[in-house]
Amino acid sequence: MRDWMGRDLHYLRLSLTERCGLKCVYCREENAACADKEELGLPELSLLLRAFAELGVTKVRLTGGEPLVRRDLEQIVHLAAGFETIRDLSITTNAQGLAERIPDLHAAGLRRVNISLDSLDEERYRRMTRGGDLRKALAGLEAAFRAGVKVKLNVVLVRGENDGEIDDFVALARECPLDVRFIELMPFSALGACGDRRVPGAEILERHPELYPVSARDFSQPSEDYRADGFAGRVGLINPISHKFCKDCTRIRVTSDGRLRMCLGVNQETDLRPWLAGTGDGLYQVLRNAMYWKPESHSFSEQYQAVRAMNQIGG
Ligand code: SAM
Repeated sequence: MRDWMGRDLHYLRLSLTERCGLKCVYCREENAACADKEELGLPELSLLLRAFAELGVTKVRLTGGEPLVRRDLEQIVHLAAGFETIRDLSITTNAQGLAERIPDLHAAGLRRVNISLDSLDEERYRRMTRGGDLRKALAGLEAAFRAGVKVKLNVVLVRGENDGEIDDFVALARECPLDVRFIELMPFSALGACGDRRVPGAEILERHPELYPVSARDFSQPSEDYRADGFAGRVGLINPISHKFCKDCTRIRVTSDGRLRMCLGVNQETDLRPWLAGTGDGLYQVLRNAMYWKPESHSFSEQYQAVRAMNQIGG
């Protein structure tokens, strides 16, 4: 459906949990607790997906927290893949443990995966994720390739941390048939709020003048895509701060505890829980109304105060 600005809202980011085995430095604080008691179950997810499909959602990304911590992820993928109108289904994951589960996820209908990988250096990866194992993430990446699942890599650049690896990631896009997307740091967590740690996307283009713009694979994607002659893959820039893309934003978010959030950078939410009991009567109407009034743009700025950490919203 279209909102008051005429934006076609067809892309749902559905968070399945706020739990995650990692604690990426830009996502949440080290000691933040994670709750699982309010996570939506299969019946509620089924009601939600049906209502969104009727409202014109054709693209669904399952996220978190970490979707792999849900033991029923394969069932959820199967459920979502069963909606004929949901033509693009993917997950965003840190890929720790993905290698073991990719065959069943693929069998359930998963065809695309976004893997977060902020460093190709084991020690830096462990530091940035506060405990992650780079070898596991790379094993997940390879297993996804082998299973025929398309892969995009997400790299959040943090000045003074992994910005020295820009060339290595660009080289990866040159050698491998995958998209490497550099994401600008957004103001979640104390580190994310530090504007001087943000690396504007323009810096990557200055370092790599061989990159030229190409048309997006999908008009709802947030990244601007680039490639260079001889590249097997692409380089994507996701610049929510330096280049707001709100006027083209087609996204809707639902948190793992059932709150509809129409903008990542606006704290306003609608609690859907009361409409997710029983047959879900009234849900369609509540969604329609809240979706119509999607905020015009995010309010990230130096004054922005995130009420929820990124893992509690679903990135
Ligand atoms: N656990 C999964 C993962 O690691 O991909 C899914 C959830 S994670 C919150 C989703 C995405 O949000 C990741 O690509 C992550 O890098 C990004 N993200 C989290 N905090 C961010 C921040 N402060 N700025 C920019 N991107 C962020």
